Amino acid sequence: MDNKYDVLVIGCGVIGAATAFELSKYDLKAAVIERGNDVSLGTTKANSAIIHAGYDPESGTLMAKLNVRGSEMAADICEKLDVPYRRNGAMVVAFTDDEVQTLKGLYTRGTVNGVKGLRVLTGEEAKEREPGLSSEVKGALYAPTSAIVSPWEYCLAMAETAVINGTELMLNTEVTAIEREGDLWKVITNKDEYFAPYVVNAAGVDAISVHNMAAPQKYVSKPRRGEYFLLDKAEGSRTDHTIFQCPNEDGKGVLVTPTVHGNLLVGPNSENVEWDDTANTTAGLNFVREKAKKSIPGIMFNKSIRNFAGVRATTDCKDFIIEEAAPGFIDCAGICSPGLSAAPAIGEYAVELLEMSGLKTVQKENFVYERKRIRFNELSDEEKAELVKEDPSYGRVICRCETVTEGEILECFRRPIPPVSIDGVKRRVGTGMGRCQGGFCGPRISELFVEDKGYKVTEVLQDRAGSEMFVGKTKEGR
Ligand SMILES: Cc1cc2nc3c(=O)[nH]c(=O)nc-3n(C[C@H](O)[C@H](O)[C@H](O)COP(=O)(O)OP(=O)(O)OC[C@H]3O[C@@H](n4cnc5c(N)ncnc54)[C@H](O)[C@@H]3O)c2cc1C
Repeated sequence: MDNKYDVLVIGCGVIGAATAFELSKYDLKAAVIERGNDVSLGTTKANSAIIHAGYDPESGTLMAKLNVRGSEMAADICEKLDVPYRRNGAMVVAFTDDEVQTLKGLYTRGTVNGVKGLRVLTGEEAKEREPGLSSEVKGALYAPTSAIVSPWEYCLAMAETAVINGTELMLNTEVTAIEREGDLWKVITNKDEYFAPYVVNAAGVDAISVHNMAAPQKYVSKPRRGEYFLLDKAEGSRTDHTIFQCPNEDGKGVLVTPTVHGNLLVGPNSENVEWDDTANTTAGLNFVREKAKKSIPGIMFNKSIRNFAGVRATTDCKDFIIEEAAPGFIDCAGICSPGLSAAPAIGEYAVELLEMSGLKTVQKENFVYERKRIRFNELSDEEKAELVKEDPSYGRVICRCETVTEGEILECFRRPIPPVSIDGVKRRVGTGMGRCQGGFCGPRISELFVEDKGYKVTEVLQDRAGSEMFVGKTKEGR
């Protein structure tokens, strides 16, 4: 049977990608089913992009264990798979004596969780490390292992590696029902039916709904939205560390952090929403701005180039829900923060649960664990000249803000998971990430979809299905 697999993974955010990456180390017939037209279209592309050190989750929880392990795994994966990652360190700052006590509690919890290098600093020590901090700061917890990452490239790199190692990726394929047929799960989609004895549910905010297709309801989904400001690179060095405030009942609070792309990121708030609603609101953004200024008063919010929001897959369970919900059916649900940090450890743990449920795993001898891409703006002048001589398309700069060339865009068209939209190109090579947010390069990238990939101009998408850029015809009739 062609549509019978050993394992099916539902969803290709960072958790589905990490699970597929882990499974692809073994001789298995595996596939990932994703309803979007690309990977990383859910919460994975809209978060704080921090690989947390692991002092925040309650000791003894899956969150604590998998956060610390995932953070340890991230550096190696990012190096081998060429994902932007920097261990910039974090500080949790306190403004009152009570909050200084909270820092001490976080220090103890982090140490129990196995986080290395934690230190409690005085206000003066914190300000010496980060001069832009408010003069009101009375102390800080310093976590040197905290890092920043490009979240969508992290997901894409693991998904691409899984595909290179034989995993099938079915995009534009939505799981609509799941039934038991003998010893197999029948996974019914908008396209076809697929069968497997083992299924991993990594459907993000929808993981509870997908669970309910296969097993009786156990948990309730309670999604929470977080909104952000992304500031121009002119503000990117406002802080070098990631600056948190003391956590409260709504989570880790508003942070200020540099990004691996050189910008400044400020957010998020935390607000209940009914569904995966990623709208920005005036109230939410005002809240974020005021809170952030308490940590770093000098932030120039008039340098904001974009706002966005992401939705946490929070549930009525305080921990990650990673368990066998029915025979061979593994839930990875409730994966709110620190899900990005924990992702590779969640993938590893999901495969352990599959093995405990009976999946036979035999290590592949020829597992490919490397990935490289050209970043023209990071090359020396000599390397640039050499590259342009070899391939003149690297001499044509398409994105002027970020200096991304036509050669890089054409190269990403040939990758194992090629982009199908302008934002898909953005997530792969960084076009449209700068001050003009794609105003200049968007039309030229549209032309490349037409010229190189044979799209009709009316088929060019900004992002998801339904986001067509153009209607009507060009004068050439395309
Ligand atoms: C505001 C905010 C800030 C955060 N900050 C951090 C941080 O700094 N560090 C950190 O570690 N974590 C952070 N997180 C958490 C982190 O982003 C998530 O834990 C992680 O991205 C979850 O990944 P996922 O793969 O489970 O979900 P998603 O990325 O949402 O992927 C789920 C995928 O499943 C697909 N899908 C759903 N239903 C179906 C279906 N029926 N059929 C087929 N496909 C389906 C979706 O299309 C989607 O692509 C933050 C989250 C938010 C919202």
